[in-house]
Amino acid sequence: MRHALVLVCSALLSLPATAQDALVVYTARIEALVKPLFDAYTKQTGTPIRFVTDKEGALVERLKAEGANTQADLLITTDAGNLWQAAQEGVLRTIDSPQLEKSIPPQLRDPGKQWFGLSVRARTLFYNTRMVKPAQLSTYEDLADPRWRGKLCLRSSKKVYNQSLVAMLISEHGEAHTEQIVRGWVANLATEPFADDTRMLEAVAAGQCAVGIANTYYFGRLMEKKPDLPLAIFWANQMTGGVHVNVSGAGVTKHSKRPVAAQRFLEWLASPQAQNLFADSNLEYPANAAVSADPTVKAWGDFKASPLDVADAGRLQAAAVRLMDRAGYR
Ligand code: FE
Repeated sequence: MRHALVLVCSALLSLPATAQDALVVYTARIEALVKPLFDAYTKQTGTPIRFVTDKEGALVERLKAEGANTQADLLITTDAGNLWQAAQEGVLRTIDSPQLEKSIPPQLRDPGKQWFGLSVRARTLFYNTRMVKPAQLSTYEDLADPRWRGKLCLRSSKKVYNQSLVAMLISEHGEAHTEQIVRGWVANLATEPFADDTRMLEAVAAGQCAVGIANTYYFGRLMEKKPDLPLAIFWANQMTGGVHVNVSGAGVTKHSKRPVAAQRFLEWLASPQAQNLFADSNLEYPANAAVSADPTVKAWGDFKASPLDVADAGRLQAAAVRLMDRAGYR
């Protein structure tokens, strides 16, 4: 991967003058999800967009290493935990944009104005419809109850999605109570944690466990392929704090040479036209509340989302990792 990046970078340096006007995006979202957006923007504005895809950690490291010499204007990545980390590492800049502040609700963006959520993913409960009635389900916390012994499936605690979920629980309940909940989850596991949400959902559908926690778009993708699976969504914590939501989002790099153009592109990404492209391609929810979700996504029904600041997920991420380790959640 490192070689690929070096090649891309030297290619950028040797671009002719006109191509220097291109915006350069470092993206942890895969090409299939971002390329249609970039193409639409280029078509509309004439601004070419070049991009490098890699893992979020590698992109932030690269931005740090390149410093003032970076060619990158924007960073696009998933999860507020990652965006928060990028801001902490000092690779993003503050953006004062009334338009972005109007388009994106406050809890889905950085209070320090360095990053903005652009799409929303919900992390909720999924159950085997042959084993569980929805009336038996209620909250993330309830999955720690001994009546779920041997019936729970989870993805690995190494994934930032679970770190953010546990960070939200810490923010709601404090560390001591959250540790009890996580210990209860671990005691209830039907099997070792899974490497990804899709395999976890397949285990629920196969009856290896009765219930699990996943992001909604993995459910959407799986059901598109296998609509007959005995798998259903349950909106967690509707009588309490609401479903844990997180974002994919973006910020302008600290050392962007074209910060005005980069900000304009970011504002476009938050606009109704781009919001559907950004969210629908991955079966996510638009972050701009004025935009409706894709019909597949809408069919999952309305839910109350947690009003907590997604930035808290970043702030409490390290505490969440330590807590899960103490609780034996691998
Ligand atoms: Fe994902």
